[in-house]
This record gives sequence, C-alpha cells and structure tokens, in this order.
Amino acid sequence: MLEVEAYRQLAHRALDRPIVRVDAPDAWFLKGGIGPSDVIDALTGRQFGADRRIGKLLLLDVVDGPTLGVRFGMTGRLLVDGDAAIDRLEYSSDRNDPAWDRFGLTFADGGRFVVRDPRRLGAIELDPDESRLGPDAGSITTGQLAVVLGDSEAPLKARLLDQARIAGLGNLLVDEILWRAGLDPARPARSITPVERRRLRRRIVSTVAELGERGGSHTGDLQVMRSRDGVCPRDGAPLQRRTVGGRTTYSCPVHQPSQQR
Ligand SMILES: [Zn+2]
Repeated sequence: MLEVEAYRQLAHRALDRPIVRVDAPDAWFLKGGIGPSDVIDALTGRQFGADRRIGKLLLLDVVDGPTLGVRFGMTGRLLVDGDAAIDRLEYSSDRNDPAWDRFGLTFADGGRFVVRDPRRLGAIELDPDESRLGPDAGSITTGQLAVVLGDSEAPLKARLLDQARIAGLGNLLVDEILWRAGLDPARPARSITPVERRRLRRRIVSTVAELGERGGSHTGDLQVMRSRDGVCPRDGAPLQRRTVGGRTTYSCPVHQPSQQR
C-alpha cells in the first residue's frame, strides 16, 4: 500500500496527456474478463483525468471513459517517462528487463506509462468493483476498525490482511503494526478490548504514515529481525516465527502476549 501510494503520486504525471498507443502484450495480466482489444478501445485517444488509490489498488479515471485499475502484486512496478517511484522492492528484482513489461501506454508527447512485473502477480482491470474493498487503512476510524474485527474467532492478523474489510495492509506492515501495538497476531479478533482497539487504530495510522515517509513496508523497525535468530528490538526476547492467517509471521512472545494482560 505504501508503495502504491508512491505509484499514485508518480501516476499524477500521467494525467491530461492524450494516449496514442496501448500495449497489452500479456493477456494473463488483464483481469475481469477483458482482453487486449477492450483496453485498447477504452484508452486510445483518451486521457486520464484523476488519480486515486484505495488500499493497494491504483485507480486512474479516464475522461469520458472507464476507470483503469492497476494492481501491482508483490513485484510490480510503475514507470512513468522512465522514472520509477521506488528504487527497489523487497520481493522484486532490481533489474529493469523490458520483457517484464505487462502493460504500456504511450502519450502524444512521446512519454510512456509502463507496468513492469517479473512475476505477473499484478493486474490491469477496467472499472474494478471498488465496493469490494474495505476502508483505507491509512485513515481508518475506531468505529470502522470495530467492524473489521467484529465478533470473529479468526486471528487478528487475518482480519487485518482481509482487503474486503480493511484495504491496504500487507504481511510486513501488519507484523510491524501488531509489534508496535503489543498485540499477538494469533489472538481471536473478538478478544481485542476497546482499549486495545483504540491503541491498534493509532498504531495502524501512525505506522502507515511513518513507513510511507521512510519509503515502504520493508522499512519497519522489526524488519531487520525477520530471520530465524531474530530478537525483539524492544526487549531482546527471541522472536516467535509462525504461520498466522496463512502468512509467515514474526512476533515477540514477551510484549505481544497470547492473552490480554
Ligand atoms: Zn518484545
């Protein structure tokens, strides 16, 4: 999500520039039942009028046309006029191989908008269903967070990763937030007390803002300790490594206890 916010800012440079050519060489990358001709017809001769983001989804509204949705997965990058917003991604390659260009637009001024993705985990959509995304994590309210957690027995971490409930948090970011909030990722969501919920909301909003400033979800304080012999940067306890919500999870058994204290 932090990376996608950087891409949104970069994509701002693509507004108000007539699109003269659309390259969609990879049909796999087009999702929602569309093919290359649909994207070419929808975009050629038009221009973007606005850039938006919900969670990890970049949205570009076409003037008198549909909305282009871009998903970057874990390895996708955006380049506008050859510039990338982020030098490197945690899971991606630093190499810039044009063979990884899954989608491209050429503007009338000769500039280009390119989605480059070695592992093809991202996607291009037209008019993506925005109602299927929960509220954006960066500005979530305590009331909205109460709805996210609900009365569920599911692990706290699984609820926070569910993009339909709260949009924008990935694996590294959730671990960092819960470490900062002192909450065990495996605790049932329903066991979170109102006091803990308020603390969690503050940590979500502040961590998203802080790591966004630093340059991405891999810049958290816990990050360097995500290894088999990692220790808690706060209290020195050996970190616990588990699978929670289907994802590799690091947490501190001392200050993120499995029971509320
Ligand atoms: Zn600790």
